[in-house]
Amino acid sequence: MEKEVRVRFAPSPTGPLHIGGLRTAYYNYLFAKKLGGQMILRIEDTDKNRYVAGAEDYILNALAWCGINTDEDPVKQGPFAPYRQSERQVIYQRYADELIANGFAYFAFDTPAELDEMRDRLKEGRVANPQYNSITRSSMKNSLTLSREEVDQRMKSGEPYVVRLKVPGKEEVRFNDLIRGWVKVHSSTIDDKVLLKSDGMPTYHLANVVDDHLMKITHVIRGEEWLPSAPLHCLLYKFLGWEDQMPQFAHLPLLLKPDGNGKLSKRDAEKHGFPIFPLDYKDPETGETAAGFRESGYLPEAFLNFIAFLGWNPGTEKEMFTEAELIQEFSLERINKAGAKFDINKAKWFNQEYLKLKSLQELVQLMKPIMQQDNVDVSDEKLSRIAELMRGRITFPKDIFSEAGFLFAKPETYDQKTVAKKWTEEAEEFLRHLKDDFARIDQFTFTRDEIHAVVEKRISAMDQKFGKVMPALRLATTGSGSGADLMTILEILGKNEVIERLNTAFTQLGNKIKI
Ligand code: GLU
Repeated sequence: MEKEVRVRFAPSPTGPLHIGGLRTAYYNYLFAKKLGGQMILRIEDTDKNRYVAGAEDYILNALAWCGINTDEDPVKQGPFAPYRQSERQVIYQRYADELIANGFAYFAFDTPAELDEMRDRLKEGRVANPQYNSITRSSMKNSLTLSREEVDQRMKSGEPYVVRLKVPGKEEVRFNDLIRGWVKVHSSTIDDKVLLKSDGMPTYHLANVVDDHLMKITHVIRGEEWLPSAPLHCLLYKFLGWEDQMPQFAHLPLLLKPDGNGKLSKRDAEKHGFPIFPLDYKDPETGETAAGFRESGYLPEAFLNFIAFLGWNPGTEKEMFTEAELIQEFSLERINKAGAKFDINKAKWFNQEYLKLKSLQELVQLMKPIMQQDNVDVSDEKLSRIAELMRGRITFPKDIFSEAGFLFAKPETYDQKTVAKKWTEEAEEFLRHLKDDFARIDQFTFTRDEIHAVVEKRISAMDQKFGKVMPALRLATTGSGSGADLMTILEILGKNEVIERLNTAFTQLGNKIKI
Protein backbone atom coordinates (compact mmCIF):
# COMPACT_ATOMS: atom_id res chain seq x y z
CA MET A 1 0.00 0.00 0.00
CA GLU A 2 1.21 3.52 -0.80
CA LYS A 3 2.24 5.56 2.22
CA GLU A 4 -0.13 8.39 3.10
CA VAL A 5 1.32 11.71 1.95
CA ARG A 6 2.21 13.97 4.85
CA VAL A 7 3.77 17.39 4.36
CA ARG A 8 4.60 20.15 6.76
CA PHE A 9 5.00 23.88 6.83
CA ALA A 10 7.59 24.67 9.47
CA PRO A 11 8.04 28.42 9.95
CA SER A 12 10.14 30.01 12.66
CA PRO A 13 8.35 32.73 14.61
CA THR A 14 11.07 35.29 14.04
CA GLY A 15 8.91 37.99 12.45
CA PRO A 16 6.12 38.33 9.93
CA LEU A 17 5.65 35.58 7.40
CA HIS A 18 7.10 36.79 4.11
CA ILE A 19 5.26 36.10 0.86
CA GLY A 20 7.88 33.43 0.08
CA GLY A 21 6.90 31.59 3.26
CA LEU A 22 3.30 31.79 2.27
CA ARG A 23 4.07 30.38 -1.13
CA THR A 24 5.86 27.46 0.56
CA ALA A 25 2.80 26.88 2.72
CA TYR A 26 0.49 27.03 -0.28
CA TYR A 27 2.52 24.62 -2.40
CA ASN A 28 2.58 22.18 0.51
CA TYR A 29 -1.16 22.58 0.85
CA LEU A 30 -1.88 22.08 -2.86
CA PHE A 31 0.38 19.06 -2.96
CA ALA A 32 -1.26 17.47 0.08
CA LYS A 33 -4.77 18.15 -1.20
CA LYS A 34 -3.99 16.77 -4.62
CA LEU A 35 -2.73 13.51 -3.18
CA GLY A 36 -5.34 13.24 -0.44
CA GLY A 37 -2.64 13.73 2.19
CA GLN A 38 -2.27 15.63 5.42
CA MET A 39 -0.64 18.99 6.05
CA ILE A 40 1.01 19.82 9.31
CA LEU A 41 1.95 23.20 10.73
CA ARG A 42 4.95 22.99 13.01
CA ILE A 43 6.34 26.01 14.78
CA GLU A 44 10.13 25.93 14.85
CA ASP A 45 10.82 28.13 17.83
CA THR A 46 14.02 26.74 19.29
CA ASP A 47 16.09 29.84 18.64
CA LYS A 48 15.34 31.97 21.68
CA ASN A 49 17.44 34.86 20.43
CA ARG A 50 15.39 35.28 17.28
CA TYR A 51 11.99 34.65 18.83
CA VAL A 52 9.53 37.50 18.27
CA ALA A 53 6.40 37.72 20.39
CA GLY A 54 3.25 37.71 18.29
CA ALA A 55 4.91 36.11 15.27
CA GLU A 56 3.17 32.77 15.79
CA ASP A 57 -0.24 34.44 15.90
CA TYR A 58 0.69 36.36 12.79
CA ILE A 59 1.50 33.09 10.98
CA LEU A 60 -1.80 31.52 12.08
CA ASN A 61 -3.78 34.60 11.06
CA ALA A 62 -2.07 34.80 7.69
CA LEU A 63 -2.81 31.16 6.92
CA ALA A 64 -6.39 31.63 8.08
CA TRP A 65 -6.86 34.68 5.84
CA CYS A 66 -5.70 32.63 2.86
CA GLY A 67 -7.83 29.65 3.86
CA ILE A 68 -4.80 27.40 4.04
CA ASN A 69 -6.19 24.94 6.54
CA THR A 70 -3.79 22.60 8.25
CA ASP A 71 -4.81 19.18 9.51
CA GLU A 72 -2.50 19.21 12.53
CA ASP A 73 -1.07 22.29 14.22
CA PRO A 74 -0.34 23.78 17.66
CA VAL A 75 -3.95 24.87 18.09
CA LYS A 76 -5.81 21.91 16.62
CA GLN A 77 -3.16 19.50 17.89
CA GLY A 78 -3.06 15.97 16.46
CA PRO A 79 -1.51 12.54 16.93
CA PHE A 80 2.07 13.87 16.92
CA ALA A 81 1.66 16.73 19.39
CA PRO A 82 3.20 18.94 20.56
CA TYR A 83 3.64 20.91 17.32
CA ARG A 84 5.78 23.62 18.85
CA GLN A 85 9.44 22.63 18.98
CA SER A 86 10.13 24.45 22.24
CA GLU A 87 7.79 21.94 23.88
CA ARG A 88 9.67 18.94 22.51
CA GLN A 89 13.07 19.50 24.08
CA VAL A 90 13.30 16.13 25.84
CA ILE A 91 12.74 14.36 22.54
CA TYR A 92 15.71 16.05 20.88
CA GLN A 93 17.91 15.40 23.90
CA ARG A 94 17.15 11.70 23.59
CA TYR A 95 18.28 11.59 19.96
CA ALA A 96 21.37 13.67 20.65
CA ASP A 97 22.30 11.14 23.36
CA GLU A 98 21.76 8.32 20.91
CA LEU A 99 24.00 9.95 18.31
CA ILE A 100 26.74 10.40 20.90
CA ALA A 101 26.40 6.83 22.15
CA ASN A 102 26.76 5.55 18.59
CA GLY A 103 29.79 7.70 17.84
CA PHE A 104 28.06 10.07 15.42
CA ALA A 105 28.20 13.15 17.61
CA TYR A 106 30.42 14.53 20.36
CA PHE A 107 30.58 17.16 23.09
CA ALA A 108 32.55 20.34 22.40
CA PHE A 109 33.72 22.83 25.04
CA ASP A 110 35.41 25.45 22.87
CA THR A 111 34.75 29.02 23.91
CA PRO A 112 33.81 31.69 21.33
CA ALA A 113 37.34 33.09 21.66
CA GLU A 114 38.86 29.69 20.96
CA LEU A 115 36.66 29.24 17.91
CA ASP A 116 37.74 32.65 16.60
CA GLU A 117 41.35 31.75 17.21
CA MET A 118 40.96 28.57 15.18
CA ARG A 119 39.39 30.47 12.30
CA ASP A 120 42.10 33.14 12.36
CA ARG A 121 44.79 30.52 12.40
CA LEU A 122 43.28 28.77 9.38
CA LYS A 123 42.82 32.01 7.52
CA GLU A 124 46.49 32.81 8.03
CA GLY A 125 47.22 29.41 6.54
CA ARG A 126 45.16 30.49 3.52
CA VAL A 127 42.16 28.29 4.21
CA ALA A 128 39.37 30.17 2.45
CA ASN A 129 36.50 28.75 4.45
CA PRO A 130 37.69 27.73 7.92
CA GLN A 131 35.42 25.15 9.49
CA TYR A 132 35.08 22.97 12.54
CA ASN A 133 35.36 19.66 10.69
CA SER A 134 36.98 16.26 10.46
CA ILE A 135 40.41 17.85 10.27
CA THR A 136 40.18 20.78 12.67
CA ARG A 137 38.20 18.96 15.36
CA SER A 138 41.33 17.06 16.36
CA SER A 139 42.95 20.25 17.61
CA MET A 140 39.90 21.54 19.49
CA LYS A 141 38.48 20.96 22.97
CA ASN A 142 35.97 18.19 22.57
CA SER A 143 35.14 14.72 23.77
CA LEU A 144 37.19 13.27 20.93
CA THR A 145 40.39 14.98 22.05
CA LEU A 146 39.91 15.20 25.83
CA SER A 147 40.02 12.24 28.19
CA ARG A 148 36.74 10.90 29.52
CA GLU A 149 37.72 12.11 33.02
CA GLU A 150 38.31 15.60 31.79
CA VAL A 151 35.02 15.66 29.90
CA ASP A 152 33.19 14.48 33.05
CA GLN A 153 35.00 16.98 35.18
CA ARG A 154 34.21 19.91 32.83
CA MET A 155 30.58 18.94 32.76
CA LYS A 156 30.40 18.59 36.53
CA SER A 157 31.89 22.01 37.02
CA GLY A 158 29.12 23.45 34.88
CA GLU A 159 31.26 24.44 31.91
CA PRO A 160 29.05 25.20 28.89
CA TYR A 161 29.22 22.74 26.02
CA VAL A 162 27.48 21.93 22.79
CA VAL A 163 26.87 18.68 20.92
CA ARG A 164 28.33 18.56 17.42
CA LEU A 165 27.68 16.17 14.57
CA LYS A 166 30.72 14.12 13.60
CA VAL A 167 30.67 14.60 9.86
CA PRO A 168 32.80 12.03 8.01
CA GLY A 169 35.79 13.43 6.13
CA LYS A 170 35.44 11.58 2.86
CA GLU A 171 32.00 10.63 1.79
CA GLU A 172 29.72 11.62 -1.02
CA VAL A 173 26.26 12.63 0.13
CA ARG A 174 23.58 12.40 -2.53
CA PHE A 175 19.87 12.79 -2.71
CA ASN A 176 17.33 13.19 -5.45
CA ASP A 177 15.56 16.54 -5.19
CA LEU A 178 12.13 16.40 -6.81
CA ILE A 179 12.69 19.78 -8.46
CA ARG A 180 16.44 19.86 -9.00
CA GLY A 181 17.30 16.23 -9.66
CA TRP A 182 20.37 14.63 -8.13
CA VAL A 183 22.28 16.78 -5.68
CA LYS A 184 25.75 15.54 -4.77
CA VAL A 185 27.91 17.06 -2.08
CA HIS A 186 31.24 15.95 -0.69
CA SER A 187 31.16 15.63 3.08
CA SER A 188 34.46 17.52 3.39
CA THR A 189 32.50 20.67 2.57
CA ILE A 190 30.11 20.15 5.49
CA ASP A 191 31.14 21.30 8.94
CA ASP A 192 30.49 19.60 12.26
CA LYS A 193 27.26 21.48 12.87
CA VAL A 194 26.07 22.11 16.39
CA LEU A 195 23.06 19.89 17.15
CA LEU A 196 22.39 20.85 20.75
CA LYS A 197 23.25 24.31 22.01
CA SER A 198 24.70 25.08 25.42
CA ASP A 199 21.22 26.01 26.67
CA GLY A 200 20.08 22.46 25.90
CA MET A 201 17.94 23.58 22.98
CA PRO A 202 18.41 21.80 19.67
CA THR A 203 19.46 23.68 16.58
CA TYR A 204 17.20 23.78 13.55
CA HIS A 205 18.98 20.81 11.95
CA LEU A 206 18.47 18.29 14.72
CA ALA A 207 14.95 19.37 15.61
CA ASN A 208 13.85 19.53 11.99
CA VAL A 209 15.09 16.05 11.10
CA VAL A 210 13.84 14.41 14.29
CA ASP A 211 10.40 15.96 13.92
CA ASP A 212 10.06 15.22 10.23
CA HIS A 213 10.81 11.61 11.04
CA LEU A 214 8.58 11.31 14.11
CA MET A 215 5.75 13.15 12.40
CA LYS A 216 6.01 10.74 9.47
CA ILE A 217 6.62 13.46 6.91
CA THR A 218 6.88 11.99 3.41
CA HIS A 219 7.79 15.16 1.43
CA VAL A 220 9.80 18.15 2.57
CA ILE A 221 8.80 21.06 0.34
CA ARG A 222 10.66 24.21 1.33
CA GLY A 223 12.56 27.23 0.06
CA GLU A 224 15.82 27.00 -1.83
CA GLU A 225 17.66 28.67 1.03
CA TRP A 226 17.50 25.30 2.82
CA LEU A 227 19.10 23.37 -0.01
CA PRO A 228 22.62 23.68 1.49
CA SER A 229 21.32 22.12 4.73
CA ALA A 230 19.81 19.10 3.01
CA PRO A 231 23.03 17.02 2.74
CA LEU A 232 23.57 17.49 6.47
CA HIS A 233 20.02 16.33 7.06
CA CYS A 234 20.69 13.27 4.92
CA LEU A 235 23.65 12.42 7.15
CA LEU A 236 21.47 12.79 10.22
CA TYR A 237 18.85 10.43 8.79
CA LYS A 238 21.59 7.93 8.13
CA PHE A 239 23.18 8.23 11.57
CA LEU A 240 19.83 7.92 13.28
CA GLY A 241 19.11 4.76 11.33
CA TRP A 242 16.25 6.26 9.35
CA GLU A 243 17.85 6.36 5.93
CA ASP A 244 15.26 4.12 4.30
CA GLN A 245 12.42 6.29 5.60
CA MET A 246 13.94 9.60 4.59
CA PRO A 247 11.36 12.03 3.18
CA GLN A 248 11.70 13.23 -0.39
CA PHE A 249 13.00 16.74 -0.80
CA ALA A 250 11.71 19.50 -3.07
CA HIS A 251 13.45 22.88 -2.87
CA LEU A 252 11.42 25.75 -4.27
CA PRO A 253 12.98 28.52 -6.39
CA LEU A 254 13.86 31.84 -4.83
CA LEU A 255 11.62 34.87 -5.16
CA LEU A 256 13.54 37.54 -7.01
CA LYS A 257 13.41 41.33 -7.08
CA PRO A 258 11.17 42.84 -9.78
CA ASP A 259 14.18 43.28 -12.09
CA GLY A 260 15.31 39.71 -11.45
CA ASN A 261 18.57 40.78 -9.81
CA GLY A 262 18.82 39.15 -6.41
CA LYS A 263 16.49 37.99 -3.70
CA LEU A 264 13.27 39.88 -3.02
CA SER A 265 13.63 41.82 0.20
CA LYS A 266 11.65 43.99 2.56
CA ARG A 267 13.63 46.94 1.25
CA ASP A 268 12.35 46.30 -2.29
CA ALA A 269 8.83 46.40 -0.96
CA GLU A 270 9.49 49.73 0.75
CA LYS A 271 11.29 51.18 -2.26
CA HIS A 272 8.58 50.27 -4.76
CA GLY A 273 5.68 50.69 -2.35
CA PHE A 274 4.21 47.21 -2.62
CA PRO A 275 3.43 44.70 0.11
CA ILE A 276 5.40 41.50 0.56
CA PHE A 277 3.67 40.39 3.73
CA PRO A 278 0.22 38.79 3.71
CA LEU A 279 -1.11 40.99 6.53
CA ASP A 280 -0.03 44.33 7.96
CA TYR A 281 2.77 43.77 10.45
CA LYS A 282 3.60 46.10 13.26
CA ASP A 283 7.12 45.56 14.46
CA PRO A 284 6.87 45.31 18.27
CA GLU A 285 10.34 46.86 18.66
CA THR A 286 10.27 49.79 16.28
CA GLY A 287 6.50 50.27 16.16
CA GLU A 288 6.75 50.53 12.37
CA THR A 289 4.07 48.90 10.26
CA ALA A 290 4.87 47.03 7.08
CA ALA A 291 2.04 46.82 4.57
CA GLY A 292 0.13 43.60 4.04
CA PHE A 293 -1.71 42.33 0.98
CA ARG A 294 -4.93 42.04 2.96
CA GLU A 295 -4.95 45.64 4.15
CA SER A 296 -3.84 46.86 0.72
CA GLY A 297 -7.11 45.56 -0.66
CA TYR A 298 -6.15 42.23 -2.18
CA LEU A 299 -8.68 39.44 -2.15
CA PRO A 300 -7.33 36.21 -0.68
CA GLU A 301 -8.29 34.25 -3.80
CA ALA A 302 -6.43 36.72 -6.04
CA PHE A 303 -3.43 36.65 -3.74
CA LEU A 304 -3.34 32.84 -3.80
CA ASN A 305 -3.71 32.66 -7.56
CA PHE A 306 -0.82 35.14 -7.79
CA ILE A 307 1.48 33.21 -5.46
CA ALA A 308 0.64 29.89 -7.12
CA PHE A 309 2.30 31.30 -10.24
CA LEU A 310 5.44 32.43 -8.43
CA GLY A 311 7.58 29.53 -9.56
CA TRP A 312 4.93 27.18 -10.94
CA ASN A 313 2.96 27.20 -14.17
CA PRO A 314 0.35 24.87 -15.63
CA GLY A 315 2.05 24.69 -19.03
CA THR A 316 -0.91 26.39 -20.71
CA GLU A 317 -2.02 30.00 -21.23
CA LYS A 318 -4.66 29.76 -18.52
CA GLU A 319 -4.00 32.05 -15.57
CA MET A 320 -7.20 32.24 -13.57
CA PHE A 321 -7.50 29.16 -11.42
CA THR A 322 -9.97 28.32 -8.71
CA GLU A 323 -8.48 26.49 -5.78
CA ALA A 324 -10.06 23.24 -6.93
CA GLU A 325 -8.42 23.68 -10.33
CA LEU A 326 -5.07 24.46 -8.77
CA ILE A 327 -5.29 21.31 -6.65
CA GLN A 328 -6.10 19.36 -9.77
CA GLU A 329 -3.30 20.86 -11.88
CA PHE A 330 -0.54 21.35 -9.36
CA SER A 331 2.56 19.19 -9.61
CA LEU A 332 6.13 19.48 -8.39
CA GLU A 333 7.34 18.61 -11.90
CA ARG A 334 5.98 21.91 -13.17
CA ILE A 335 7.91 23.99 -10.65
CA ASN A 336 10.78 25.92 -12.20
CA LYS A 337 14.34 25.62 -11.01
CA ALA A 338 15.06 29.26 -11.83
CA GLY A 339 14.05 32.04 -9.46
CA ALA A 340 10.64 33.67 -9.86
CA LYS A 341 10.51 37.41 -10.53
CA PHE A 342 8.09 39.23 -8.30
CA ASP A 343 5.78 41.41 -10.37
CA ILE A 344 3.25 43.38 -8.35
CA ASN A 345 1.38 44.35 -11.52
CA LYS A 346 0.48 40.73 -11.98
CA ALA A 347 -0.94 40.67 -8.45
CA LYS A 348 -2.98 43.77 -9.27
CA TRP A 349 -4.23 42.19 -12.47
CA PHE A 350 -5.42 39.12 -10.60
CA ASN A 351 -7.19 41.33 -8.09
CA GLN A 352 -8.99 43.23 -10.84
CA GLU A 353 -10.08 40.00 -12.46
CA TYR A 354 -11.34 38.53 -9.20
CA LEU A 355 -13.22 41.73 -8.38
CA LYS A 356 -14.98 41.43 -11.73
CA LEU A 357 -16.16 37.98 -10.74
CA LYS A 358 -17.73 39.15 -7.48
CA SER A 359 -21.47 39.49 -7.20
CA LEU A 360 -22.84 42.96 -6.49
CA GLN A 361 -23.79 41.83 -3.03
CA GLU A 362 -20.25 40.68 -2.33
CA LEU A 363 -18.85 43.94 -3.65
CA VAL A 364 -21.16 45.90 -1.37
CA GLN A 365 -19.88 43.91 1.58
CA LEU A 366 -16.29 44.70 0.55
CA MET A 367 -17.03 48.41 0.13
CA LYS A 368 -19.03 48.92 3.29
CA PRO A 369 -16.15 48.89 5.78
CA ILE A 370 -14.29 51.40 3.62
CA MET A 371 -17.32 53.72 3.62
CA GLN A 372 -17.66 53.33 7.36
CA GLN A 373 -14.00 54.09 7.89
CA ASP A 374 -14.42 57.35 5.99
CA ASN A 375 -17.75 58.12 7.63
CA VAL A 376 -19.61 58.10 4.35
CA ASP A 377 -23.24 57.28 4.73
CA VAL A 378 -24.62 55.44 1.70
CA SER A 379 -27.42 52.94 1.42
CA ASP A 380 -26.68 49.38 0.36
CA GLU A 381 -28.86 49.95 -2.65
CA LYS A 382 -26.83 52.91 -3.82
CA LEU A 383 -23.60 51.06 -3.07
CA SER A 384 -24.79 48.19 -5.19
CA ARG A 385 -25.37 50.51 -8.13
CA ILE A 386 -21.97 52.11 -7.61
CA ALA A 387 -20.42 48.65 -7.50
CA GLU A 388 -22.07 47.72 -10.78
CA LEU A 389 -20.80 50.90 -12.38
CA MET A 390 -17.24 50.57 -11.12
CA ARG A 391 -16.70 46.83 -11.33
CA GLY A 392 -14.14 46.29 -14.05
CA ARG A 393 -12.63 49.75 -13.52
CA ILE A 394 -11.05 49.20 -10.13
CA THR A 395 -8.13 47.22 -8.80
CA PHE A 396 -9.06 47.46 -5.12
CA PRO A 397 -12.41 48.09 -3.43
CA LYS A 398 -10.97 51.31 -2.00
CA ASP A 399 -10.46 52.64 -5.53
CA ILE A 400 -14.16 53.38 -5.58
CA PHE A 401 -13.24 56.49 -3.64
CA SER A 402 -10.40 57.68 -5.77
CA GLU A 403 -12.07 56.71 -9.03
CA ALA A 404 -15.60 57.75 -8.20
CA GLY A 405 -15.30 60.26 -5.38
CA PHE A 406 -17.75 62.46 -7.31
CA LEU A 407 -20.51 60.00 -6.45
CA PHE A 408 -20.14 60.90 -2.79
CA ALA A 409 -19.28 64.59 -2.95
CA LYS A 410 -19.64 67.46 -5.38
CA PRO A 411 -16.61 68.08 -7.57
CA GLU A 412 -14.30 70.65 -6.02
CA THR A 413 -12.28 71.23 -9.14
CA TYR A 414 -12.79 70.71 -12.85
CA ASP A 415 -10.28 69.04 -15.09
CA GLN A 416 -8.54 71.97 -16.74
CA LYS A 417 -7.78 70.27 -20.03
CA THR A 418 -11.39 69.33 -20.54
CA VAL A 419 -12.51 72.81 -19.53
CA ALA A 420 -10.21 74.32 -22.11
CA LYS A 421 -11.25 71.94 -24.86
CA LYS A 422 -14.85 71.10 -24.22
CA TRP A 423 -16.54 73.84 -22.18
CA THR A 424 -17.66 75.86 -25.18
CA GLU A 425 -20.38 78.40 -25.56
CA GLU A 426 -22.51 75.99 -27.55
CA ALA A 427 -21.97 73.21 -25.00
CA GLU A 428 -23.04 75.51 -22.20
CA GLU A 429 -26.11 76.58 -24.09
CA PHE A 430 -26.97 72.96 -24.71
CA LEU A 431 -26.56 72.14 -21.03
CA ARG A 432 -28.83 74.99 -19.97
CA HIS A 433 -31.60 73.55 -22.12
CA LEU A 434 -30.84 70.04 -20.97
CA LYS A 435 -31.11 71.19 -17.37
CA ASP A 436 -34.65 72.39 -18.07
CA ASP A 437 -35.43 69.04 -19.71
CA PHE A 438 -34.12 67.25 -16.62
CA ALA A 439 -36.23 69.44 -14.39
CA ARG A 440 -39.31 68.17 -16.20
CA ILE A 441 -38.51 64.48 -15.55
CA ASP A 442 -40.18 62.98 -12.52
CA GLN A 443 -37.44 62.36 -9.95
CA PHE A 444 -38.49 58.71 -9.62
CA THR A 445 -38.12 58.05 -13.32
CA PHE A 446 -34.77 59.77 -13.55
CA THR A 447 -33.24 56.56 -14.84
CA ARG A 448 -30.39 55.84 -17.19
CA ASP A 449 -32.70 55.07 -20.10
CA GLU A 450 -34.90 58.07 -19.50
CA ILE A 451 -31.89 60.39 -19.21
CA HIS A 452 -30.47 58.91 -22.37
CA ALA A 453 -33.71 59.49 -24.27
CA VAL A 454 -33.94 63.09 -23.08
CA VAL A 455 -30.33 63.80 -24.00
CA GLU A 456 -30.79 62.29 -27.43
CA LYS A 457 -33.91 64.32 -28.03
CA ARG A 458 -32.19 67.53 -27.00
CA ILE A 459 -29.19 66.76 -29.22
CA SER A 460 -31.34 66.32 -32.27
CA ALA A 461 -33.51 69.32 -31.39
CA MET A 462 -30.43 71.53 -31.24
CA ASP A 463 -28.73 69.74 -34.12
CA GLN A 464 -25.77 68.95 -31.88
CA LYS A 465 -23.28 66.11 -31.75
CA PHE A 466 -22.67 63.78 -28.79
CA GLY A 467 -18.93 64.39 -28.88
CA LYS A 468 -19.39 68.14 -28.68
CA VAL A 469 -21.67 68.30 -25.65
CA MET A 470 -21.32 65.15 -23.61
CA PRO A 471 -17.82 65.86 -22.28
CA ALA A 472 -19.16 69.15 -20.91
CA LEU A 473 -22.01 67.32 -19.20
CA ARG A 474 -19.55 64.91 -17.63
CA LEU A 475 -17.26 67.75 -16.64
CA ALA A 476 -20.05 69.68 -14.96
CA THR A 477 -21.36 66.69 -13.00
CA THR A 478 -18.17 64.78 -12.16
CA GLY A 479 -15.37 67.30 -12.54
CA SER A 480 -13.43 65.11 -14.95
CA GLY A 481 -13.22 64.47 -18.65
CA SER A 482 -13.55 60.70 -18.73
CA GLY A 483 -14.85 57.82 -16.67
CA ALA A 484 -17.56 55.23 -16.29
CA ASP A 485 -20.94 55.27 -18.03
CA LEU A 486 -22.25 58.83 -17.62
CA MET A 487 -25.97 58.01 -17.80
CA THR A 488 -25.60 55.59 -14.92
CA ILE A 489 -23.60 58.17 -12.98
CA LEU A 490 -26.39 60.71 -13.44
CA GLU A 491 -28.99 58.17 -12.36
CA ILE A 492 -27.02 57.38 -9.21
CA LEU A 493 -26.55 61.08 -8.44
CA GLY A 494 -30.28 61.70 -8.82
CA LYS A 495 -32.20 64.47 -10.49
CA ASN A 496 -31.81 67.21 -7.88
CA GLU A 497 -28.10 66.67 -7.42
CA VAL A 498 -27.49 66.73 -11.18
CA ILE A 499 -29.38 70.01 -11.54
CA GLU A 500 -27.50 71.51 -8.61
CA ARG A 501 -24.18 70.50 -10.09
CA LEU A 502 -25.10 71.94 -13.46
CA ASN A 503 -25.99 75.24 -11.82
CA THR A 504 -22.67 75.28 -9.94
CA ALA A 505 -20.81 74.60 -13.17
CA PHE A 506 -22.60 77.45 -14.91
CA THR A 507 -21.46 79.80 -12.20
CA GLN A 508 -17.95 78.48 -11.94
CA LEU A 509 -17.20 77.78 -15.58
CA GLY A 510 -19.58 80.14 -17.31
CA ASN A 511 -17.10 83.02 -17.21
CA LYS A 512 -14.41 81.01 -18.81
CA ILE A 513 -15.92 81.63 -22.21
CA LYS A 514 -15.54 85.36 -21.83
CA ILE A 515 -11.93 85.18 -20.62
N1 GLU B 1 12.15 26.70 10.32
C1 GLU B 1 12.60 26.76 8.97
C2 GLU B 1 12.13 28.10 8.41
O1 GLU B 1 11.91 28.98 9.16
C3 GLU B 1 12.03 25.60 8.21
C4 GLU B 1 12.81 25.14 7.04
C5 GLU B 1 12.30 23.80 6.58
O2 GLU B 1 11.17 23.78 6.07
O3 GLU B 1 12.97 22.80 6.80
O4 GLU B 1 11.99 28.33 7.24
